[in-house]
Amino acid sequence: MTSVARLYVTADLKSGADLALDEAAAHYLRHVLRLELGAAVVLFNGRDGEFAATLSVAGKRETRVAVGDCLRPFQAPRDIWLCFAPIRQGRIEFIIEKATELGAARLLPVLTKRCQVRQVNAQRLEAHAREAAEQCERLDVPPLAPLQPLDAMLNAWPQERRLFACLERETATPLLAALQALPAAAPLAMLVGPEGGFAPEEIALLKAKAFVTPVSLGEGILRAETAALAALAVAAAL
Ligand code: SAM
Repeated sequence: MTSVARLYVTADLKSGADLALDEAAAHYLRHVLRLELGAAVVLFNGRDGEFAATLSVAGKRETRVAVGDCLRPFQAPRDIWLCFAPIRQGRIEFIIEKATELGAARLLPVLTKRCQVRQVNAQRLEAHAREAAEQCERLDVPPLAPLQPLDAMLNAWPQERRLFACLERETATPLLAALQALPAAAPLAMLVGPEGGFAPEEIALLKAKAFVTPVSLGEGILRAETAALAALAVAAAL
C-alpha cells in the first residue's frame, strides 16, 4: 500500500481551507511525486495538527490544495533539547535525522574547543529535519538554533532545564538513572561533544554548573552521532 505523501507547510491549517503551496512544496508534489489533480496528501504545520488534503489546482503558475478533515490534533513533543557539537558533513545529518525521529523538541549546535567543524549549513540541516519529520509522522519540525559557543550557551541557560552532559570516563552515573530521578515532564536537554570530545576546561565548566548532570552512556566510547542517538533513545523509551 503506497503511503500518502506528508508535507510540512507553514500556513495555518483548518478544514475547508484552500491553500496555495510554495514553489518547493509544489515541485515536490507534482514533479518528484508526480501527483495528479485530486491526489490525496497529508499536511501538518507544527501547531494546528495533521490534516487530510487533496491537490485541487495544478496549474502552470500555481498549485493549491483543498484542506479536509483533521486527522490528528496537535500535540507538542516531550520538551527535550539536543545540544550537539557540529561534526563533519554526512554525519551531522545523521544527528539531525535521528534526533528528529526520536522526538527532540529543539536542536542546538554548540561550538566547542575541539570542534573540527566550525560552522553549520543551517538551511541544509533544516531541510533534513523537515524531511525526517514528514517521514516519521511527527506533527512538528524541531527548530534549529543558531550555532553558539559552549560558554555562551551555558551563560544563557534556562535554570529550570536540566542539562545532561554526556561525558565519557567522567562519571559512572548512567543516563537512565539520572533521567528517572527527574519528574516525568520536566524540561531537559542532552549535550554531546565532537569527535575529539570536550576539553578538560570545558568538562570543569560543565561540572561547575548546578543545572548540569554529567552522565554516562555506558563503557564504550561512542561516536558523537551514536551518543546523540543513544541519549535521545533512552529518554524516548522512558
Ligand atoms: N573523548 C573521546 C575519546 O576519548 O575518544 C572522544 C569523544 S566521543 C567520540 C564524542 C562524544 O560522544 C563525547 O564528547 C561524549 O559527549 C559522547 N560520548 C561518547 N561515548 C560516551 C559514553 N560512553 N558516555 C557518555 N558520553 C559519551
